[in-house]
Amino acid sequence: MVGSSNTDLIIRVPRIPKAGETLLGGEFMSAAGGKGANQAVGAARSGGRVALIARVGTDAFGERAIKGLRRDGVDVSCVFRDKLAASGVALIFVARDGENSIAVAGGANARLSPADVGKAAGVIRAAALLVAQLETPLATVIAAAQVAMKAGVPVILNPAPAQALPNRLLKLISILTPNETEAELLTGIKVTQEAAAARACAKLRSRGVRTVILTLGARGAYLADAGGQQMVPGFKVKAVDSTAAGDIFNGALSVALAERKTLRDAVRFANAAAALSVTRLGAQPSAPTRVEIERFLGRRK
Ligand code: ADP
Repeated sequence: MVGSSNTDLIIRVPRIPKAGETLLGGEFMSAAGGKGANQAVGAARSGGRVALIARVGTDAFGERAIKGLRRDGVDVSCVFRDKLAASGVALIFVARDGENSIAVAGGANARLSPADVGKAAGVIRAAALLVAQLETPLATVIAAAQVAMKAGVPVILNPAPAQALPNRLLKLISILTPNETEAELLTGIKVTQEAAAARACAKLRSRGVRTVILTLGARGAYLADAGGQQMVPGFKVKAVDSTAAGDIFNGALSVALAERKTLRDAVRFANAAAALSVTRLGAQPSAPTRVEIERFLGRRK
């Protein structure tokens, strides 16, 4: 995994405070977050052997983020400490009605560099897969994808948060995993139903991506590759908090693919992991274990 590590500082509030307003009565909690770290933990709990390439500060948040990753068995030898920038932080308000408002200070994440990728090149070359997102600089993602491509290591890119992407990056990607918003930004096609999902996938494939897995929230995911396209339905669960559903999906997907499951089975496994995660609060705390995922799949045959 190459990507971000943040600490989420969350206040549950009666409603989102307005500009200039001080709102009392909140309840505070903090949790490890950041798309890179979330996906690393999602993959590790799904049964994968995972190394994270990331950058945090020399502050207490960075210290705690690394400790948490270690606890989940993630190899942190390529999580670099930045002497100049603070660790990434997200300040999150969650209102009673589920609405949220988030501000992110990327800090050290913005300084994860192609030189860092160079230091981690051995780890990338030895991997079954490389997974990246877009919360770290694009030049770094491209550098990592180039190292992987040269070594014959397939690259999964989760293009989140939504951002336009150059074809020279898309050409390096084996599997692209946008959600509906990201697919729309990348293709201009509003993904409302299956036919639109098919068109969006075809457009992305025409830009050089081999396989597209378009996640569709509770509906599951739409899968398109050279062999054809199909819907892989999601699982019905009682949703509590959809934060990081996409991250857990990508983490679990990468493990299933590294284990050489078929694409359809891998997406089903990822749908199950993500469905379990939306029944729980928080980002990394919501990631299910391999045993939980398999038990869930056993029940839903
Ligand atoms: P993101 O979290 O990036 O916005 P999605 O909302 O598409 O992405 O969710 C990613 C995956 O999480 C889906 O493909 C699905 O497997 C699962 N998922 C999301 N929301 C639900 C839900 N309400 N019920 C069951 N599964 C869900």
